[in-house]
This record gives sequence, C-alpha cells and structure tokens, in this order.
Amino acid sequence: MSMEFTGLKEKTLVLLKPDAIQRGLIGEVIGRFEKKGLKLVGMKMMQLEEAVLREHYAHIADKPFFPGVSQFMQSSPVIAMCWEGLEVVQAVRILCGITKARSAEAGSIRGDLAMSVACNVVHASDSVETASKEVPRFFKVDELYTYNKSEFEHVYTEDERV
Ligand code: ADP
Repeated sequence: MSMEFTGLKEKTLVLLKPDAIQRGLIGEVIGRFEKKGLKLVGMKMMQLEEAVLREHYAHIADKPFFPGVSQFMQSSPVIAMCWEGLEVVQAVRILCGITKARSAEAGSIRGDLAMSVACNVVHASDSVETASKEVPRFFKVDELYTYNKSEFEHVYTEDERV
C-alpha cells in the first residue's frame, strides 16, 4: 500500500524538537494543529541518530552550524507526527512560522513560543515533494492510520472534500 499525498489525503511530517519536549510544549503545539482542523494519522516518540539526521538535514549538512543542530536534535527524544488535510503542508508551515523564531510572526508557533534559530520547537516539511520523502523516513505504512474524522464535515465544505 502506497502513501497518498493528494487532496484531503495530503500528508506532512512534523517533529516536536527537544526544546518542545524539555519546555513542556507538547500539548500546546499539538493543540494548535488539532484546533486548526487537521487530522493526526501517525505519532510516536523516538530518539534520532546521526545517520537519519544527516539524511533529513542533507540540505544543511555542509553548514558550520550542522554539528550543533545534530547534537541538539539528539539531546532528547523527539515526537514525530504525520498530519493530514487539504494543502496541509503549506497550512502547517504557516502555523509554524519562519526559521528564526525571534523574528517569526506573532500567532505562529515559533513566533509565540521561541526565541532561537536552532531551538525553534518544530520541524515541518517544506513542500509536498519533501513531505513525500520525509513521512516514509519516519513512519512505516502500518504506523499510519486511515479513519473517518467526522469533524471534517464541519472543517471543509462538500466541494473541498472530494
Ligand atoms: P526550517 O526548519 O524552518 O525548514 P531549515 O530547513 O533552513 O529551516 O533548517 C533546518 C533547521 O536547522 C532549522 O529549523 C534550525 O533548527 C536549524 N538552523 C537553520 N539555520 C540555522 C542557523 N543559521 N544556525 C543554527 N541553526 C540553524
């Protein structure tokens, strides 16, 4: 069974980073995604290792700050989540705010909850193409759930649900 990344089945990967775990922000951040009307289809706590971080952060692996980011991301377990919804990749990026948390827009997760560039609470896939690689990197097919979320009837109009 392959993973679908279209329509209401669009998926994105979110990681709650070690600062979220240490600072007691797990419920706060998950609550924001829930209130937005997104559907949680996978969630687990995991300890990341250098190899997966090199793959996940390949686009910054040559930067001088990468060793620090890698060390930070291994400093405690993280919580990996897969959220589903219409154009969910973009919606979650907007909810998260820009990388440099102290400049992120008020109202966003990073804008409201963080001050650092590295310790910025969450990771979220930056495009549908990236999500289609990141979700399978962290979740096996049988760790993602298909179920009816009755709330979707009220979150979307009928034409948005096709
Ligand atoms: P984003 O997570 O917003 O998509 P990037 O993909 O550019 O941002 O970077 C990945 C992560 O690397 C960031 O979330 C942040 O934790 C860290 N990072 C990025 N740029 C820097 C920097 N200049 N100094 C320290 N850490 C950084």
